[in-house]
Amino acid sequence: MGLYRFLLVATTILPTTMEQALSGRQTTFSEAQGRTPHQELDPAFWNDMAHRDLDRAIQLQKLNLNMAKNVVLFVGDGMGLTTVTTGRILKGQLQGQPGEETVLAMDSLPHVGLVKTYSLDYQVPDSAGTATAFLSGVKAARGTIGVNGRVQHGVCATQKGNEVNSILVLANQAGKSTGVVSTSSLTDATVASTYAHSASRYWDTDANLPWEAIYKGCKDIAAQLVDNAPDIEVLLAGGRQNFLPRSVADMEYPNKFGTRRDGRNLVEEWITTKPGTARFVWNLDEFNAIDSNRTDYLLGLFEPHHMKFSVDRDLDGAGKPTLSDMTQKAIQILQKNSNGFFLLVEGGRIDHGHHANQAVRALHDTVAFDDAIQVAKDMLDMQDSLVIVTADHSHTFNFGGYPSRGHPIFRKTDYNFGFELLDRKPMTSLLYGNGPGYSLSGTRQDITNVNTGRKDYKQQSAVPLAHETHGGEDVPIFAGGPMAHLFHGVREQNYIAHVMKYAACLGEYRENCHSLRKPRATRGGVAVRSWDFQTTIAVLILVVAIM
Ligand SMILES: [Zn+2]
Repeated sequence: MGLYRFLLVATTILPTTMEQALSGRQTTFSEAQGRTPHQELDPAFWNDMAHRDLDRAIQLQKLNLNMAKNVVLFVGDGMGLTTVTTGRILKGQLQGQPGEETVLAMDSLPHVGLVKTYSLDYQVPDSAGTATAFLSGVKAARGTIGVNGRVQHGVCATQKGNEVNSILVLANQAGKSTGVVSTSSLTDATVASTYAHSASRYWDTDANLPWEAIYKGCKDIAAQLVDNAPDIEVLLAGGRQNFLPRSVADMEYPNKFGTRRDGRNLVEEWITTKPGTARFVWNLDEFNAIDSNRTDYLLGLFEPHHMKFSVDRDLDGAGKPTLSDMTQKAIQILQKNSNGFFLLVEGGRIDHGHHANQAVRALHDTVAFDDAIQVAKDMLDMQDSLVIVTADHSHTFNFGGYPSRGHPIFRKTDYNFGFELLDRKPMTSLLYGNGPGYSLSGTRQDITNVNTGRKDYKQQSAVPLAHETHGGEDVPIFAGGPMAHLFHGVREQNYIAHVMKYAACLGEYRENCHSLRKPRATRGGVAVRSWDFQTTIAVLILVVAIM
């Protein structure tokens, strides 16, 4: 066992919890040097790795031009590039490694580009306008769901006739199965943008509709799912309060009630209106009992509002599925359709951890999100399945301070700044530009005796805000499978919907698409052309010769 592994194992075993292991004590510089994996000192290590990566990159010159039978879109809500990098380090450290060298499931997707996230009216966007862009193919205003840019946020009168259809609707129309999985509420902005049209993301229950919206005939998002949405086979998320009337107590928390004023029980309505075997579940036992072979429709609503953060799952008495569990179940049900499927999987609470300046919560949810991507990759054949991973926007989250190699990601940085550190107080390598982590005592808080690895620790921020804001820089997009190479360079966010539609021959790309790009037979994992121009000419010559 190398010295770095010994130190990591020692710091993991000695404290009683992983939180303590990833926090607290500062290390000396000599310890830090000792964490560098020994094999990395050999130049052959880096040359060999680069040769393998180059071989894989050269293979990518043979493009996968197949038609995408299945499309899976993973959205890490608020997962900017800093979140990807630090989430990667955390995932590695949870496995006893230094962390930086870890390869995330999303890292292993071969094609990468950058996405410009601004909405029509804001440099720094929200999750509604952005989701409309990447699901429906047109940029929209902040706060609006499934409508084009002519709709003003919160003005129902501007909505009629300006609805836009998401790729989920188009996939449904083409005979594919569809699904939505999220750790957020089922009526929250990202997932609502697959099935709803609303001038405001906040009209998630009829109790939140303003008079103007009621008078002009706008419908709340939860009701739209039952009344107007396409036949979505799998819906797994939080948010059941918006599907239950005010008079009905929650099945898990008897002192909580539904939000609906109109008295409708949308869960019951959903079950009774589905043509096949439809099941509703709200806890892990019921979820695990679902036989995907005997289930046509599955609605799982696991919390009244959002599902719990990944690090808070142990506090849940009833037990709930992880994002990986939900992704696996969704694919098992959806892949029964020989026409293929579209599935959206959202890591919805990465965003909420950041808004609270709680990097521990945000990054553990990032790891859980990446685990779900691995599940999908393991279940799907990349010859016919397009897998995309991106974020809707970033956060003001940043990572710096020269921590040493393998430094526990939530600890105070071990770099010795000497006199450069003007207030002589320690700092964490994870910080925020704004948010509730700011100390209002007049000077920066001294965190010498603070455990910065606690899950409710708020990383320090420069500007005091009750809720940290989103960030406006580009976000990454990773992709593998048919037409994944079309994700490259720097693109507008609405381009994502167009590549998905083109790859799967949906919407405006349906005509001629199938004749141009037939699904190819695969031989040894490599796509082979089943019928091409030369073959056609050869057959014609043969026919003429015989005649
Ligand atoms: Zn947010």
